[in-house]
Amino acid sequence: MPATLQRRVRERAADRCEYCRLAQVGQEATFHIDHVQPRHEGGMTTLENLALACVSCSLRKGARTHGSDPTTGALRTSSTRAGLAGKITSKSRTSF
Ligand SMILES: [Zn+2]
Repeated sequence: MPATLQRRVRERAADRCEYCRLAQVGQEATFHIDHVQPRHEGGMTTLENLALACVSCSLRKGARTHGSDPTTGALRTSSTRAGLAGKITSKSRTSF
């Protein structure tokens, strides 16, 4: 991956994980630049398909099989991820 592209991703992300918004500052591990749609699924090394990811997010994402929304083809971004997290939270009902 070209260094310029890596730098642009970090600049766009403002040195925060683009999935969970964790700041790189204060983290021991260096954040990785992650392919939103994995390369083996045809994802390209472009600014649009790259996201700065903290260690836990890149590990979590690595375990997933799908990189993009099958209906819209839209790439996962921090906003769609936040929406997903919101759905999960609203589903887990408080028991009383
Ligand atoms: Zn993260």
